[in-house]
Amino acid sequence: IAARLNSSGFLQNQGLIAGKWTDAYDGKTITVCNPATGEVVANVPCMGRNETNDAIASASDAFKSWSKVAAAERSRRLRNWYDLIMAHKEELGQLITLEQGKPLKEAIGEVSYGAGFIEFAAEEAKRVYGDIIPSPFVDRRLFVLKQPVGVVGAITPWNFPLAMITRKVGPALACGCTVVIKPSELTPLTALAAAELSLKAGIPPGVVNVVMGNASDIGEALLSSPKVRKITFTGSTAVGKKLMAGSAGTVKKVSLELGGNAPCIIFDDADLEVALKGTLATKFRNSGQTCVCANRILVQEGIYSKFADAFSDAVKSMKVGDGFGEGVVQGPLINEAAVKKVESLVQDAISKGAKILLGGKRHSLGMTFYEPTVITDVNNEMFMSRQEVFGPVAPLLKFKTEEEAIHMANDTNAGLAAYIFTKSVQRSWRVSEALEYGIVGVNEGLVSTEVAPFGGVKESGLGREGSKYGMDEYLEMKYVCLGNL
Ligand code: ADP
Repeated sequence: IAARLNSSGFLQNQGLIAGKWTDAYDGKTITVCNPATGEVVANVPCMGRNETNDAIASASDAFKSWSKVAAAERSRRLRNWYDLIMAHKEELGQLITLEQGKPLKEAIGEVSYGAGFIEFAAEEAKRVYGDIIPSPFVDRRLFVLKQPVGVVGAITPWNFPLAMITRKVGPALACGCTVVIKPSELTPLTALAAAELSLKAGIPPGVVNVVMGNASDIGEALLSSPKVRKITFTGSTAVGKKLMAGSAGTVKKVSLELGGNAPCIIFDDADLEVALKGTLATKFRNSGQTCVCANRILVQEGIYSKFADAFSDAVKSMKVGDGFGEGVVQGPLINEAAVKKVESLVQDAISKGAKILLGGKRHSLGMTFYEPTVITDVNNEMFMSRQEVFGPVAPLLKFKTEEEAIHMANDTNAGLAAYIFTKSVQRSWRVSEALEYGIVGVNEGLVSTEVAPFGGVKESGLGREGSKYGMDEYLEMKYVCLGNL
């Protein structure tokens, strides 16, 4: 597959600076491996401060012209980019499976989902309205202009190698900003292929730059540059906090999509089939490696055993394997460190009284594969209820009352996504309002879409991505007062 992608030109393995494909200045490289097999897929440049500074300079130059291009024209170029990505859905999907591991069908799904952010941004590009404010003074008129913030540093994770980039770069470009992207070193190939398509779509050289390599050096160069006016990040809470602190020196605008600890609350009055389907979808998407994956499944005592049995039956039937395998719905974890983390969380829970209903160990396929797991008798004090599991492990916690469920759900520093399952309309409103989360799914496990605002409260982040609100993250307001009329 790698050879086929290479011959069709989809295995780009250099960084992109000022529209030129570039190696690291010292020639160093890092390897990108297939998480399912450990095989090396490609070598990419290991870049650092110098390359990043040149990428920033290129983005800053390109900003002068791109920010002046008519919104309708920016919209057309973005639409071209969307069309090209969709035309190469298969190849990009294969690339995602190759470097990230998710099943091919899910990977192709990510391409459509990810491309959606570009399509939506292309449409919104034409609708960046300002205001005319009714003036309290007879001789003055008051206006608000919306202008692009400038050069954007976009740092992204490995779990959605395409979508985490498009949801940042789409609106940034639509608003007239230019970008320096730093994809995860684990999954840079999809980012590079997408960047190449941006050039083919007519997005001018320098508008999109991609550097990868030494994350902290690249981060440092982005943070210290006064030319970079905005940092947009998706990743761990610890790194997000560092970037927020590092942005203070030059007072950059910051948006952060950080870790979640999603509760999935199943009330006695839920439709069992709906709850099973929704919980399965939110828990096991991308083998549990998303920040909106259910991290704690809170089940009311009246249906706890019934739910646990039915859920574990459903989990048992999921096929695990290489993402290119027929019928596979659970791929590998990203690397062995991820498997070790899952193992230690499971051990901790067992040592504190939790019980394995299904799975609970490494899969016979080896290294990066972990068995889809269901654990009962979990409580809110175990490490797996305090941290993101980021793996195919479903912990079931028991609760008695709605009040107790809300308390347990909110008892965390995170606040990204939450899910509730109930047939009561009154309860769904009451609980949705009481949950300290940025996103609530009611009787639904898959809630992400480019048309709705995605983001968290508390330590899950700042700002929103997607929807009309996602545009605001890349705009500054300018108040113009026209006086002495
Ligand atoms: P994850 O656990 O999802 O890998 P990380 O926060 O470690 O989350 O990584 C998300 C992104 O942040 C990756 O692109 C990674 O290389 C980058 N990153 C990690 N450390 C730093 C840093 N000190 N400065 C800038 N970027 C960083």
